Amino acid sequence: IYLAKVVRVEPSLQAAFAHRDAERMAYIDGLTQVANRRRFDLDLSDALRNAQAGARAVSLAMVDIDHFKRLNDTYGHQTGDAVLREVAATIKANVRGDDVVYRYGGEEFAVLLPDADAAQAADVVERVRAAVQTQRILDDRGEVIEVTVSVGVARSLADEPRDLLAAADGALYEAKDGGRNRVVIAER
Ligand code: GH3
Ligand code: MG
Ligand code: MG
Repeated sequence: IYLAKVVRVEPSLQAAFAHRDAERMAYIDGLTQVANRRRFDLDLSDALRNAQAGARAVSLAMVDIDHFKRLNDTYGHQTGDAVLREVAATIKANVRGDDVVYRYGGEEFAVLLPDADAAQAADVVERVRAAVQTQRILDDRGEVIEVTVSVGVARSLADEPRDLLAAADGALYEAKDGGRNRVVIAER
């Protein structure tokens, strides 16, 4: 027997729920369900402000899927989208509790790692890299799609957001240039 319990929700409360959902969705990437670029910009500023106030340092990792254009060309955009979702989930599953994963744009993700010194951040991010390489994503015919990521990591100094981003981006560029599927830590 199913006993339905009828709950009347006040219209004002309904509006409040709708507002809360809309607000939450404004900061989530629709495809991958990780935090979006808007959230990233706010969180990065906050993290650097805290770090400057002497609270906790933060490391920033930029994670970019290797040869993703080729993957799209080979398997189609639908499969490309599925790969983006899988990679986002794998990154999330391999970072620590306080680390936050963002879709920075396209096939690029950012991770903010609070309090991580360079060695700690490198450990986390290397685990992410290895997990993406070994995760099994299958195409329509049940064959494994090879997916790897390159990662650039930089630790905050007395930075402006753009300085930390530039440092992590520079390291990412080196990881690509060095052959991809690798982690490079920015020397600063
Ligand atoms: P690299 O190893 O140097 O990073 O090469 P790449 O091919 O990954 O980089 P490039 O910037 O040339 O291509 C990125 C591709 O990502 C191109 C674009 O079509 C694709 N892309 C961006 N956003 C999405 C998306 O939401 N879904 C799908 N399927 N593809 C996307
Ligand atoms: Mg790429
Ligand atoms: Mg890219």
